[in-house]
Amino acid sequence: MMTATLTVPEPTPTPATAPPAVAEEVTCGMCNGTRGTWETTDGQSPGKAIRRWVACTGCNGTGKISK
Ligand SMILES: [Zn+2]
Repeated sequence: MMTATLTVPEPTPTPATAPPAVAEEVTCGMCNGTRGTWETTDGQSPGKAIRRWVACTGCNGTGKISK
């Protein structure tokens, strides 16, 4: 009496290259990805047209933060 030979499925080959380890970044919650705000007053020159870019302090002006 013969025993049936079972076919063992081959294991899934491991990919040769692993996914690149990149730092996962998420949109900054402080500026919602706008990277900063335009400041229109400096508190010292009323009526003066001031347009100064103030980078977000949460993400340092990048709009994204590392998780
Ligand atoms: Zn930000």
